[in-house]
Amino acid sequence: MAVRIDGKALAAKVKSQVAEEAGKLSRKPGLAVVLVGEDPASQVYVAGKERDCAECGIESFGYRLPAETSQEELLGLIRRLNEDSRVDGILVQLPLPGHLSEETVINAIAPDKDVDCFHPFNVGRMVIGAPAFVPCTPAGVIEMLDEYDIPIRGKRCVVLGRSNIVGKPMAALLTQRDGTVTICHSRTEDLARCTREADILVSAVGRPGLLTGDLVKEGAVVIDVAMNRDENGRLCGDADFASVEPRASYITPVPGGVGPMTRACLMRNILTAAGLHQA
Ligand code: NAP
Repeated sequence: MAVRIDGKALAAKVKSQVAEEAGKLSRKPGLAVVLVGEDPASQVYVAGKERDCAECGIESFGYRLPAETSQEELLGLIRRLNEDSRVDGILVQLPLPGHLSEETVINAIAPDKDVDCFHPFNVGRMVIGAPAFVPCTPAGVIEMLDEYDIPIRGKRCVVLGRSNIVGKPMAALLTQRDGTVTICHSRTEDLARCTREADILVSAVGRPGLLTGDLVKEGAVVIDVAMNRDENGRLCGDADFASVEPRASYITPVPGGVGPMTRACLMRNILTAAGLHQA
């Protein structure tokens, strides 16, 4: 039976380190949190991030904008936040309402305040191995592997999903750590053949039950990034836990796995940004 990786406990450790370091700075680090519209899931995420900030000694400045906010208004706010010396990091909660261009908005954030690491400048730096910030979810995954002394070097790593936020940066970070990486997506032929080769299998698709035990090699490490709702409305990942857990050597539960680590890594990126601005 697999060891369950405790993302919650590790996240608490990371956040207490961030709080200690933040306390040594000459002024509190600051995060601007921008939420456009009233998507209920986004409201929950944003409230969680603001709680994390309070726990870590980081000041948060909330900007709740109506769903009909225009692109120009949003870009105007971002320009002001780029210039605001109290603000070390700017987080625009995605998804944005359909009439707003996420790409344009992300590109408007000053790279030294891009604590989500979504700006092309920071993505490029990450890919060449000279990062200022690391994208929160993949960084959290790497940190969990390290915490449990799970080697990456030379291992076959399979990432399910190729989004800019999770799949692609996850593959880049695993490659940098000397993993041999395959990325799978909706057009992959014979998914099972790929997944059954994986020593480390990271699933970031967003489909409950997609990853069943027969797709997993005996003894593989399974990292379930997905956050889905099952038919009873309960939070779940991509893995069919009952069939995957007995085959895996390690597995991340949902909830309590990757999610808390993503949030903790965001706090660390804000601290990094504050260090850059206060240097
Ligand atoms: P996304 O942008 O929708 O990407 C999903 C990816 O899965 C796409 O690359 C898609 O392929 C691929 N895919 C779809 N069906 C597939 C199939 N049958 N077999 C293989 N691949 C398939 O999603 P995302 O933003 O990366 O998020 C993925 C999941 O992670 C979601 O559940 C999300 O809620 C969760 N998430 C969790 C955290 C966290 O902190 N735990 C953070 C971010 C996201 P194509 O590219 O071909 O369409």
